Amino acid sequence: MRDQSAVLPGDARGERSFAAERLLAPSQAICAYFARVEIAPPPVERVALGAAAGRVLASDAIAGEDHPSHARSTMDGFAILSGGGARRTIVGGVRMGSAAPHAIDANQTLRIPTGGALPDGADAVIPIEDVDLEGETIVMRAKVAAGENLTQRAADLRAGECVLAAGRRLGAPELGVLATLGCATVEVFARPRFGIISTGDELIDVAATPSLGQIRDSNRYAIGAALAALGAEPVQLPRVCDDADALRDALRAALDGCDAVVLTGGSSVGERDLTPQIVAELGPPGPIVHGVRVKPGKPTLLGAIGSKPVIGLPGNPASALMILEAVARPIVAACTGVTNDAPLTIDAIADKLFRGREGWTWFVPAKVRNAGGRLLAEPLPLRSSHVSLLARACGYVTLGETAPNVEAGESVRLTLFSSGGAPIERSQ
Ligand code: AMP
Ligand code: MG
Repeated sequence: MRDQSAVLPGDARGERSFAAERLLAPSQAICAYFARVEIAPPPVERVALGAAAGRVLASDAIAGEDHPSHARSTMDGFAILSGGGARRTIVGGVRMGSAAPHAIDANQTLRIPTGGALPDGADAVIPIEDVDLEGETIVMRAKVAAGENLTQRAADLRAGECVLAAGRRLGAPELGVLATLGCATVEVFARPRFGIISTGDELIDVAATPSLGQIRDSNRYAIGAALAALGAEPVQLPRVCDDADALRDALRAALDGCDAVVLTGGSSVGERDLTPQIVAELGPPGPIVHGVRVKPGKPTLLGAIGSKPVIGLPGNPASALMILEAVARPIVAACTGVTNDAPLTIDAIADKLFRGREGWTWFVPAKVRNAGGRLLAEPLPLRSSHVSLLARACGYVTLGETAPNVEAGESVRLTLFSSGGAPIERSQ
């Protein structure tokens, strides 16, 4: 059942280290993953527009009507028929929210506010500042051509047009358009439930005080927030100690109630790294990729039980978050149904050397400062055990396998965390 050529678990082969030459680069890892795991599109549900922010559109949004439905003025002024004489008699005014009171002829005009519906007979609007008033007559000081200072019917959106494609994440701009088109409810994909399991004998609750050797389980919070920002529903599950039976039970229970599972810790090839073994037991397909040619985060596990993804992140907090966002993100995206998912990036000038390693992908956390309009990025020393990186970094720079170094003065592209991250500092 298992295609070993795509599976690289050191320990599943009875090995206790990662052989660098067998590790996949992150993009290869994701290709290998999707070659083996078919993630079904999530179920569809209909939600009120007011509850749709952050959700993913499940069907194309088609304009049911022209917008605007009638030619509208874009200026405060007078509706006229272009051409003809400079003098027009004011025969009334257009009120916002109402049809024009009557049509006009070439000698007449109606006052019209910005957004007002153009009267029949008019083909242009002359702005108020371009006319002189003589009692109930305007004298036009400028010439306006047909179509000037107005929006034609359907100039914005045409009935039948696909305005937003299925798979688009809904945010403020999208909700604005949907509301304009009268979509009081929308069909969205159900949020995939991502179970989060932290593993490690040393972990304690965030509210507890650590004894010597203990650390607070911080990953579940960071990973939960990242998953939520990526459009998934994080489901916090009980912590598990480094015990095979406990982990097996916990993973089984997680798979029962969730669409995917993210585990942190225990993903490497040590004696107490049980995640790969348990994922292999509960498969197929089990582990698809074990070990990625990246730093930090080499001991990453990408697997599945049936069609449910199981992602084993390294325990170090900075590694766990960067691997989720930089490597495993397409798996989360596939579960949410979003298409064209891409993290936000900013370009900056390297303030210091960014040092990578030939043949490897390195994710280097960086901070950014604005020096008189120039954004300068500085690498932060990557010690994957240092959680302070999460406070100091704006995001991370991805150094590729070939020509990995970026010299000071060259440009670098920073990927921002899906939510949060240090602000850009301002320097004099
Ligand atoms: P592991 O990947 O299990 O070898 O863990 C690597 C490091 O990450 C260890 O120092 C762990 O204590 C730490 N770690 C593991 N899980 C967590 C967690 N949930 N929160 C914070 N740190 C963790
Ligand atoms: Mg551990």
